[in-house]
Amino acid sequence: MSVISIIGPSANNINKTDLLGLTLPEMQEWLVERGEPPFRAKQLYSWLYRHLVTGFSAMTNLPQVLRDRLVQEASIGPMVVRSELHSKDDRTRKILLELSDGKLIESVLMLYPPIGESSARATVCVSSQAGCAFGCTFCATGQMGFDRHLSAGEIVAQVLFFARELRTAPWAAEGLPGSAPIDHITNIVLMGMGEPLHNYDNVLRALRILNSPDGFNLGARHMTVSTVGLVPAIRKLSQEPLQVNLAISLHAPTDELRSQTMPVNKKYPLLELLSACRDYIDATGRQVTFEYVLLAGVNDTAQSAHQLGELLAPLKQFAHVNCIPVNATSADYRPPGGEAIRAFRDILFEHGVSNSVRAERGDDIAAACGQLRTRFERNRNHQ
Ligand code: SAH
Ligand code: SF4
Repeated sequence: MSVISIIGPSANNINKTDLLGLTLPEMQEWLVERGEPPFRAKQLYSWLYRHLVTGFSAMTNLPQVLRDRLVQEASIGPMVVRSELHSKDDRTRKILLELSDGKLIESVLMLYPPIGESSARATVCVSSQAGCAFGCTFCATGQMGFDRHLSAGEIVAQVLFFARELRTAPWAAEGLPGSAPIDHITNIVLMGMGEPLHNYDNVLRALRILNSPDGFNLGARHMTVSTVGLVPAIRKLSQEPLQVNLAISLHAPTDELRSQTMPVNKKYPLLELLSACRDYIDATGRQVTFEYVLLAGVNDTAQSAHQLGELLAPLKQFAHVNCIPVNATSADYRPPGGEAIRAFRDILFEHGVSNSVRAERGDDIAAACGQLRTRFERNRNHQ
């Protein structure tokens, strides 16, 4: 396991400005307020997002007086790694982070070797909140309740942690000779703890910061926001200049079934949700992914598959279903077997609905977000 130095939360950091939460124009303003020329902001951005430094002493092209002042007044994503787990095949790595107020969040790095035409990917699964207010019954985070929104800087810091780790020790796919080791983050998905569209402004700000060509320079097409289905926020997202990918947590084809596992459905029922998706597609011309967590005996029947096919067929090539066998977080749910999944998918194909199945990964390190924190807190309470 590589050792990465991280600035720990300390009393010193409390009144400091977290630079990872500032867009480039905001950083310029921040520096100008302190009597510095605006071009220093680009230099800082380059140190933070290209060189991936964790401290100010490394910023050698900044005058010493400015570096001293930064030490006094600024921080670089203050948080502490409480635990880091690597799956047996090292393709999934998960960290438990303690924020400056002691709250715990999880982030995951998923590594994919190159297959056929597609190149290798290093995807960070980012948390947007500590806990979640939406209480989906199959979700470990949902069962914790809501703590608070993450700041933009706390969202950005999760990505930078893994970016630094890969820079220090590039990952080479085992058994694939000739493929170049992967040393940078290629994708981010807002599929960690929390509901990203409930924390709309901070999430969008974090994505804009990571998108900046003067810094991390990650393309919007490499970013995915997953939502439980907050209708007004989906409409707002469709008007953003930053065109990220949208994934909708659907998980059931009827209001009756969806309301059983997803309380949010009572507020935004399927008809309204689908209409917002239709408007999103019309506004952006982009495909929407529908996530469908398969719960054996609950939503994986042939009837559900037909209903789902009928619901999504009108969206034609603009809808794609991602079937996800549930990662059992409680005794209440279990994933269907391979044959049942195949049958479910075949019915979707009959309706002309494109779909895929998410390969299970990281089971040995508590893959579904929220599980690691739950386990950690259980152990802590037993100590
Ligand atoms: N709140 C957002 C994003 C975070 S959850 C959302 O709900 O979309 C990311 C994805 O993981 C969602 O599709 C969610 O439904 C799914 N998920 C939650 N618990 C799961 C579990 N136990 N097994 C598999 N997927 C799960
Ligand atoms: Fe929250 Fe998403 Fe979990 Fe539902 S699935 S409880 S919205 S994190």
